[in-house]
Amino acid sequence: MELYKDLAIHGGIPVREKYLPYGRQWLDEEDIQSVVNVLQGDYLTTGPAVEGFEQSIAAYVGAKYAVAFANGTAALHGACFAAGIKQGDEVITSPLTFAASANCILYLGGTPVFADIDPLTLNIDPAAIEKLITPRTKAILPVDFAGNPVDLDTIQAIARKHHLVVIEDAAHALGASYKNRKIGAISDMTMFSFHPVKSITSGEGGIITTDQEEYYRKLKQFRTHGITREADQLREQHGPWYYEMQTLGYNYRITDIQAALGSSQLKKLDSFIQIRRCYAETYTRTFQTMPEITCPQEPPSVSSAWHLYVIRLNLDYLGVERKEIFEALIQENIGVNVHYIPVYYHPYYRELGYPTGLCPQTEKIYQGIITLPLFPAMTEQDLEDVIRALKKVIHYYRR
Ligand SMILES: *Cc1c(COP(=O)(O)O)cnc(C)c1O
Repeated sequence: MELYKDLAIHGGIPVREKYLPYGRQWLDEEDIQSVVNVLQGDYLTTGPAVEGFEQSIAAYVGAKYAVAFANGTAALHGACFAAGIKQGDEVITSPLTFAASANCILYLGGTPVFADIDPLTLNIDPAAIEKLITPRTKAILPVDFAGNPVDLDTIQAIARKHHLVVIEDAAHALGASYKNRKIGAISDMTMFSFHPVKSITSGEGGIITTDQEEYYRKLKQFRTHGITREADQLREQHGPWYYEMQTLGYNYRITDIQAALGSSQLKKLDSFIQIRRCYAETYTRTFQTMPEITCPQEPPSVSSAWHLYVIRLNLDYLGVERKEIFEALIQENIGVNVHYIPVYYHPYYRELGYPTGLCPQTEKIYQGIITLPLFPAMTEQDLEDVIRALKKVIHYYRR
């Protein structure tokens, strides 16, 4: 850090004048108009735009049903509820993910069980899952890391053998496919997030897709206080005003304002992914010849949504740790990030008793990962700046 600072003082100016974030939304006039239309209409929430958005997402991924939520975390909470997760149940998930993937299990009193990752894909390792199954295991919650689908056939086979529900955290993977099938129509339930850094945005938002009617009904009830008005589900009939609260749900509704934005964005999803893919290919072409860097790979049977471009530093070739490289890139105004801090490293999880050493591959990989900026609103010049900055920093710290 000090060394690099000296370099900046003696030579130089940062590669970029303006900070480049690692991800951000891409909005156009059509998106803005779609929101304005809702604001000028009759419904701000629980109106036709929500249903329209759900139908568009279901059709896009090829699922029968979709239930939209206020955000992806609420959607995961709903999926765990629909799967029947309760006190004492174990759910196997990845440690290399955002805390929400495991938090949703805790919300219902369940226990997250972390299975180590495959160092090639950075996705949960199916062999590790199988070893952790106990009579208390109820579900598997895999995460499509960086937009690369997990090995769904193998995970599904394990789930069927042990009668487990598969809840796929596809927050990174809208538009990705596995063996030519779109993500969202394969697992029992699949979650997508519409946070501004994700493939498409609704400001905040999330959705569950499923083919099973029972899950669909439970998700809809859970989203709105556990209340139903469906005549065939009511236990009593008092009159036209009557509804029933049958389970403890939440107010996890998405607004029509958000849903309209999501629908408008969905039309551009495939072109967004194309740009991401093109930029990722440029990164890989540039960095794959450098021994200090290992580039991410797309396994042959999948098509990634390229949500994140996560490089691994080969620290043996560098005189410093990841921290120095990271700080130097920030000085160059490149908005690098780390995806992710292993979930059980967080103090809350440590206090629950998860020990260091639990998932050795994850912990080792955590030492060397850096996420480079990758998003469709990035320009070719932005991409060049990232490349120039990373080359400069690696050159400087190279052994
Ligand atoms: C973004 C994200 C979520 C949560 O989505 P929100 O919409 O922000 O609540 C969950 N899991 C992963 C892996 C994510 O990246």
